[in-house]
Amino acid sequence: MDRLAIVVPCYNEEEVLKLASKSLRDVLEDLARKGKAAADSFILFVNDGSADRTWELIEEEHAAYPVRVRGVKLAGNVGHQFALTAGLVTAKDMSDVTISIDADLQDDVNVIEEMLDKFHSGCDIVYGVRRERKTDTFFKRTSAQLFYNLMHLLGVKTVYNHADFRLMSKRAVEEFSKYRETNLFLRGMMPLIGYRTDKVYYDRKERAAGVSKYPLKKMLALAFNGITSFSVKPITLILGLGLFVIFIAVIMLIYALFSYFSGHVVAGWTSLIVSVWFLGGLQLLAIGMVGLYIGKIYMEVKHRPRYNIEKILSDGNPAQDSAVAKEEDR
Ligand code: UDP
Ligand code: MG
Repeated sequence: MDRLAIVVPCYNEEEVLKLASKSLRDVLEDLARKGKAAADSFILFVNDGSADRTWELIEEEHAAYPVRVRGVKLAGNVGHQFALTAGLVTAKDMSDVTISIDADLQDDVNVIEEMLDKFHSGCDIVYGVRRERKTDTFFKRTSAQLFYNLMHLLGVKTVYNHADFRLMSKRAVEEFSKYRETNLFLRGMMPLIGYRTDKVYYDRKERAAGVSKYPLKKMLALAFNGITSFSVKPITLILGLGLFVIFIAVIMLIYALFSYFSGHVVAGWTSLIVSVWFLGGLQLLAIGMVGLYIGKIYMEVKHRPRYNIEKILSDGNPAQDSAVAKEEDR
């Protein structure tokens, strides 16, 4: 039976922590009864440097339910994406499968069972995807759609309407932990891992208690980080712009010469206007060229894994390749 770890990042969540603990414990109890998760499956709360009583509450919960509730205390506030990573990497050594979920119970805990079913039928990553929500404000709906489209335009694969509510098998988390980059945008990284994935759909609710820890400023920072961590296309856009300006310079040259010979110009205008366009274009082109190399350096320094071997067909000697052995363990 697979042991499940539910990873919950918490930053100043004292209002909602006990509630979250209760409903997740109920889910685990139910799953254990149905034989879908091991009896010693657990919740792993990650305290992301909270300034309130969050950690004390986690300790209390752990004391009351030593098997069900575990905790990780980060030394300071590092932000949602890092806190979640710390939780997943810690949980993978104690469990067979992880599910990450926010502390505020906005995501539907009732689809956890469906996620596990998909895991048992061979999926390594199961994305929790929000159904289109009618109650969303027009601004939130369109801005999310815009961001998603922009990401796709820039060549970044993400799952639409999926935040960080997802199931990951142990080997998926293991592969993920090989991504050593510091600018984390988890939902952009997951599709890079490979393996079989699936989605479950749910309706996102209002926050159970407390206030959002993701103000607009943090949200924009996350979006911007998502783009710049995954795409060097903005650099090629500069290069393209440089070429375009040089093209305009040629047109301006023809126009200026035409004006010059038809005698309608002030002295000095022709050489000036042609120089301005041409030099402007040349500079953009040069910046774009330099940018291309910086883009390459950027991709190199990430040291991302270049591939992920899922299976090797060999002569059956398990010592020869651990990938096959690992697959059979499941
Ligand atoms: N969170 C965190 N560190 C932070 C900010 C948020 O661990 O610096 C956690 C927070 O406790 C919650 C999750 O990230 O469990 C998502 O935050 P929130 O629900 O406030 O975001 P929203 O749903 O409003 O976008
Ligand atoms: Mg929330």
